[in-house]
Amino acid sequence: GAGGKSRSGSKKPRQKKIAVLTSGGDSAGMNAAVRAVVRMGIARGCQAYIIREGWEGLVRGNNTDVPSDDVPTPTASQTPTPALSRSTSHVHLPPSQRIARHNKATERNQYFNEAGEPLGHLSYGFGELLLSGSAEGEIEADGLEEQRMAVGSGATGGVPEATGVDAKKTLKGTYIVRVGWDDVRGWLGEGGTLIGSSRCPSFRTREGRLKAAQNLIEFGIDCLAVCGGDGSLTGADMLRKEWPSLVGELLENQRITKVQAETFAHLNIVGLVGSIDNDMAMTDLTIGGLTALHRICEAVDSISSTASSHSRAFVVEVMGRHCGWLALLAGIATGADYIFIPEQPPKSDNWEEEMCSVLKAHRQVGKRKSIVIVAEGALDKNLNPIKGDYIKDVLVDKLGLDTRVTTLGHTQRGGAPCAYDRILATLQGVEAVEALLSATPDTPSYMIGISENKITRKPLLEAVAQTQAVAVAIEEKNFDKAMSFRDPEFAESLQAFKASSTLDDSLTLPAEKRLRIGIIHVGAPAGGMNAATRQAVRYCLARGHTPIGIQNGFNGLLDDAVQELSWLRVDNWTTRGGSELGTNRTLPDVDLGGIAASFQAHSFDALLMVGGFEALLALEMLEGARKHYPSFQIPMVHLPATLSNNVPLTEHSLGSDTSLNALVAAADAIRQSASASRNRVFIVETQGGMSGYIATMGAMAVGAVLCYTPENGINLDVLQEDVDFLKKRYALDVPGKSEGRLVIRSEKSSKIYTTEVMTKIFAEEGKNIFDSRSASLGHTLQGGVPSPYDRTRAARLSLRCMQFLESQAHKAPASGSGKPSGRRQPCNTRDSAASITIQGSQIIFTPIDEMLAAADIKNRRGKSTWWKDMKELVELMGGRTGIVNEN
Ligand code: ATP
Repeated sequence: GAGGKSRSGSKKPRQKKIAVLTSGGDSAGMNAAVRAVVRMGIARGCQAYIIREGWEGLVRGNNTDVPSDDVPTPTASQTPTPALSRSTSHVHLPPSQRIARHNKATERNQYFNEAGEPLGHLSYGFGELLLSGSAEGEIEADGLEEQRMAVGSGATGGVPEATGVDAKKTLKGTYIVRVGWDDVRGWLGEGGTLIGSSRCPSFRTREGRLKAAQNLIEFGIDCLAVCGGDGSLTGADMLRKEWPSLVGELLENQRITKVQAETFAHLNIVGLVGSIDNDMAMTDLTIGGLTALHRICEAVDSISSTASSHSRAFVVEVMGRHCGWLALLAGIATGADYIFIPEQPPKSDNWEEEMCSVLKAHRQVGKRKSIVIVAEGALDKNLNPIKGDYIKDVLVDKLGLDTRVTTLGHTQRGGAPCAYDRILATLQGVEAVEALLSATPDTPSYMIGISENKITRKPLLEAVAQTQAVAVAIEEKNFDKAMSFRDPEFAESLQAFKASSTLDDSLTLPAEKRLRIGIIHVGAPAGGMNAATRQAVRYCLARGHTPIGIQNGFNGLLDDAVQELSWLRVDNWTTRGGSELGTNRTLPDVDLGGIAASFQAHSFDALLMVGGFEALLALEMLEGARKHYPSFQIPMVHLPATLSNNVPLTEHSLGSDTSLNALVAAADAIRQSASASRNRVFIVETQGGMSGYIATMGAMAVGAVLCYTPENGINLDVLQEDVDFLKKRYALDVPGKSEGRLVIRSEKSSKIYTTEVMTKIFAEEGKNIFDSRSASLGHTLQGGVPSPYDRTRAARLSLRCMQFLESQAHKAPASGSGKPSGRRQPCNTRDSAASITIQGSQIIFTPIDEMLAAADIKNRRGKSTWWKDMKELVELMGGRTGIVNEN
């Protein structure tokens, strides 16, 4: 049939088969990872398989006799509708990744992957069945034999396969299943893992792994992507290490043939880290960690208001056996008073006293609530566990606080993945396929990680070893060593937490080093602005500096709306959206002289500006005016905060994560409505100025089929192709099972082809096949409560900014009395007026002239952006890339 590859006479290299499994504790985003592996695998010409129930499924295999080397081609019900295709030059993926043109004369035009299989509709009905809940029963490690699942009929040669979603059949003991493109449809937003996970004791034995190897070989699977925690990845590494000897033993025992042994002499394995604890070394984040943090922050935010109402203390227990990441980040994001983490036990033998003195000091400055966050694996320095109930008793006895304990437990695992986990899992899943396909017998197995904003490949073995070394170091009471194995971000976050929660003078600088630091918000509000300001204020106070809040931007400064900020004043700013200081778009050129006079009147020694493109322009003006106004001859730093993420060079601005989450929440709801009416295309309009960041990454997070950005623009040709694509796509849906589809359009993508116009064009052209509606998200995208990522990133970057200001100011020593407001030497250097930028895996203070050189001022965005190729990935994941009409 069309789209199937011919078996006869094929001299092509053996088609690769990629399998993916999820193992260990489930985490949000695992489904997105599976979807990405499956779709990218298929796009790259491989067959895709899922292995149910983790390692257990691989050990058990399928209860059918003769697994074949090949699977049948899609049946008539899946025969693609005629369509045109060609490999296109607008695809910027590496050549190997491009979607090949399939040009068989016998088949009419269709778009295909490299193996000649149709893209965008290949389905064995498996995903649909799982999603619709037809799989029976919950899977328990012990009761696996009882496990029943529904897959379609048509299983041939041991490989279960459905010819359509109606063809349901219940099969026992089927664990290795071939899946198609549409089987993973709608998986991005699903929590947990739809393909099941388990703990598998037998995989820890050689006999278990021997069975697993046999199953892989029998199914012809030569590439395996494993998504799980360090245990699961240890298992993966073990399997790969033992592979040659496993194959040897299987051959010796005649469990496989000689040909099989030769064909499958190598196994390619890649690890994806799915774990809510974020406990894996050599990666900043694990899939699911941030979603867990979302759940924790939601809970603690709710607890905070009741705690405050009743002037109570709450002890919140969070997950993390050997890793305090969740507790630490939650502490920062919620503005907790005290945290306990395994890596850094309290220093004193009497930690009870230590904790009480901190909480007491906080109460003395007027706090009405106390929040203590304790990691599941928290220890004192003698390795005695520190538990919530005991902390509660201490607080009741020693401080007389009305104290409650809340254990968040499994709520932390659950729910829909946050925007970032969906994107992270997608990018990492894609990278996993690339790593598998480029692997050779000599390359190590990789773990796919991320460092700041860069997807990385790290040797699996090393990452696992380092992860386990943390637990060992803790056991040996070598806590500094334990900390050193964590990524630098962890240590920095801990520093930020300490600086923001201390009231003692342990960090205070001598008088001559103290500064008066102005803090101003510029431009539109963005999530995380307030958290950044809180961190700056708390750091200032801990160091003995004077933090001076400028209200309502540069207008406010001219009106002298300037106020010293106190420790208590900023206490609950982490969780607040908008801008507590007040912000607007006025730039300093409204009255440079007046602003200079104000700087002088308030004796600013340094300035922190939090804002987007306007803040950048403001910095340029202030820096440029240094020669005329001595009061601008101070260190100045800009912390990018804007939902558009349009500040040049930096890959992330504060607020864009909050905004993406707002978009995901809205788009998920819209998709539900679109799907209910079966055949509706929803055009969702986003903000973002002339930057396509929100539209592109939002589209990736919600699984939109198309996205339109100002960078790419819209023209008639594009619209024509897209309408054609939508027609084909809908025609391929199983009748009656069409789904709603999302299109994300950045509001400034085109002046002519507005959202309204496009909606009408789609509706007109899609007549009888699909209809079209639109929704504009507008200012909802600013988000309400800032996301945990924006809050914690704000704290970390703000801490860096304050350290930058300090070091720049201290380069120019005080020339006057040494009093806090004493005149300092002028600070004129190029380096001393900079933006803090995230570039790849680094954080770099970039001087303003470099920032401007990288800016497209007219369009208010960077000249180049890291996400520009992401549009293609979005459309590849939607089955759209590579399809262009020839006539
Ligand atoms: P979590 O983050 O939830 O702890 P994990 O992957 O670390 O996830 P584990 O229970 O440690 O969870 O491991 C999951 C499975 O991986 C185990 O049930 C076992 O099948 C396999 N596994 C773990 N460690 C090994 C090992 N040393 N050798 C072989 N297989 C292992």
